[in-house]
Amino acid sequence: MEESVKSRLSDFLYSSVTPHHVVANLADELLTHGFERVELGKQLPTNPGPYFTVVSETLFAWILPEKLSGFRLVGSHSDSPGFKVRPNPDRKSSLGHQLAVEVYGAPLWNSWLDRPLSFAGAVLVDDKSGPVKKLFRMQKPVAAIPQLAVHLDRGVNSNGLKLDERKDLNPVLFAETESFAALVADEVGVSAEKIISWDVMPYDFQPPAIVGTAASEVIMSARVDNLVSVFASVEALCGLESASGIAPVMCVYNHEEVGSTSSEGASSATTLRLLNHIAKAQDVDISELLAATSLLSVDCAHATHPSHRDKHEQGHDIVMNGGVCLKRNDNQAYSTSLDSELEVLGPLLTQFQLQKYSHPNHLRCGTTIGPLLSTQLGVPSVDIGVPQYAMHSVRETAGLTDIAQLTQLISAYLG
Ligand SMILES: [Zn+2]
Repeated sequence: MEESVKSRLSDFLYSSVTPHHVVANLADELLTHGFERVELGKQLPTNPGPYFTVVSETLFAWILPEKLSGFRLVGSHSDSPGFKVRPNPDRKSSLGHQLAVEVYGAPLWNSWLDRPLSFAGAVLVDDKSGPVKKLFRMQKPVAAIPQLAVHLDRGVNSNGLKLDERKDLNPVLFAETESFAALVADEVGVSAEKIISWDVMPYDFQPPAIVGTAASEVIMSARVDNLVSVFASVEALCGLESASGIAPVMCVYNHEEVGSTSSEGASSATTLRLLNHIAKAQDVDISELLAATSLLSVDCAHATHPSHRDKHEQGHDIVMNGGVCLKRNDNQAYSTSLDSELEVLGPLLTQFQLQKYSHPNHLRCGTTIGPLLSTQLGVPSVDIGVPQYAMHSVRETAGLTDIAQLTQLISAYLG
């Protein structure tokens, strides 16, 4: 991977600490590349060109061609598993100040232990004109979730670490403050009474690291799932010259990690509403457009762990930096089928060297936005993604060669 792309990738992963920041960073990037921001529900522009719209922490960007005849959708997600700071988080005792958090999605809890943590998110502030939303990201670590010492948990190494989600996950705050609200208020430049509500997550303060050499290089970072896919999608979209009849559309959804059922999740009516709006503005029938529409659902896959080959399906080794995975699960946890491979990828199936991911029978397969969106829109879809280690750890690992190939593949699909 080129040095400039590596640094853009690292910056994007590190600065996109919550879905609020993902969407804000994407919006900045799209504006830089000449995309115009439009509002869903208002009259959409009819001129060919690049546009985007934001629905809470979900973002859609598309390039409108001269004569619209269908859509090529590329979908990913803006959220990552972790913890949300509760509305009344302060737990003070003579031993200090802890914060109560709610588990969001399915993080690997142990990966959060003993790390320098900071906080980021969005708050509603009581302004003269009414409540206003403000984003913030603390630039200093202020907390940690300490693990119990081995002397107080004898047997932890041989019996395995057991964590109680009601008491072992609440960060200890090392800041001299009356309350968490006061700390946040300081960040956004108001007094604590002005804070009405928040959506705040702790984040690992350590920046991403590039590890290894040449074509074996990997990135170790938080939020690899699924921001490497978002990164590859936006790089591919911004690299397109223009669109022919089929409009490329990038969809980045919130709430994938908790099932996608929200007004901004992939299960909502929002995607169809947007496509309908675009069709209407162009005076084209939506069903005609959907007949010429496909979806590329992009989310990470499991690289075969070299110490745990028995956990993976035999004959389906997935090698780090061995290429993008085509994810197939005939119980429809993934949207890929024989027909959709042909319809969505066509010649790309042979132009790119894809690894074939297949989940073992004895373990439940994770799912993606692919089956949800393709069901709802009635369009063919395939699931692809780069392999990674330690999915849902706060420090996940993925190969740079694979991420570069993913960008090329998405470009070839969209263009
Ligand atoms: Zn994911």
